[in-house]
Amino acid sequence: MNANEAAIRIKGLHKSFGDLEVLKGIDFTVRPGEVVCVIGPSGSGKSTLLRCVNLLEEPTAGTVTVAGTEVTDPDVDIDRVRRRIGMVFQSFNLFPHLTVLGNLTIAQRRVLGRSGAEAERIARENLKRVGLTEKESAHPAQLSGGQQQRVAIARALSMDPQLMLFDEPTSALDPELVGDVLGVMRRLADEGMTMMVVTHEMSFAREVADRVVFMDGGVIVEEGTPDQVIGAPQHQRTRAFLARVL
Ligand code: ADP
Ligand code: MG
Repeated sequence: MNANEAAIRIKGLHKSFGDLEVLKGIDFTVRPGEVVCVIGPSGSGKSTLLRCVNLLEEPTAGTVTVAGTEVTDPDVDIDRVRRRIGMVFQSFNLFPHLTVLGNLTIAQRRVLGRSGAEAERIARENLKRVGLTEKESAHPAQLSGGQQQRVAIARALSMDPQLMLFDEPTSALDPELVGDVLGVMRRLADEGMTMMVVTHEMSFAREVADRVVFMDGGVIVEEGTPDQVIGAPQHQRTRAFLARVL
């Protein structure tokens, strides 16, 4: 990635589902190495925004450019773009019949064409990164939710992503398991990974984000540093939201 090039550039993004306009004109740039947390009430369009970045949803209008490639260009090879974007969801979506190692190697082999040995080497490096070296032979059902989510993160990292998208990665976890997952994400941020994180974890956003974006009703209401947006919100809608979640 060129250091001067935006990691993600979103221009005039609109998305409708039938008559329902969910994104009403989003303009937004993420710089390489930046950690951006997206906050806002349920239904405000956060997931749809994230899903438009890797074209899990097709925008109705506007452009999305990832590391210099316009992903909304109809001629683009979207599979090629998508394989460099790691995505972690609230649900972990691990293959239940595969071991942890199997979950981490299958896409490396099938999508990137890596040999079994190389895929396993890279998988083990990433299991170490998320602190689960000893679980490589376990099946997902034998792991806690927090461990499964860390496996999902390691799986995404094994594809050498240029950026990582997280959609409420800790929302489905028991409270005592949230910290380990946030700890892994914090380390990734420290390593310089470009990250866009939809989260309700305000302390994480406050401590880890370079920038916080508050969305409501399909628009970005305000954005700025965590101190600005969470510490001293300018808009009534932001203040009302924060009063509910803090
Ligand atoms: P958030 O992640 O902020 O909770 P979403 O992006 O999931 O919000 O959803 C925004 C709005 O779009 C909601 O009203 C939701 O019901 C609607 N929506 C999301 N996905 C679809 C879809 N595939 N079809 C129809 N409506 C959808
Ligand atoms: Mg959502």
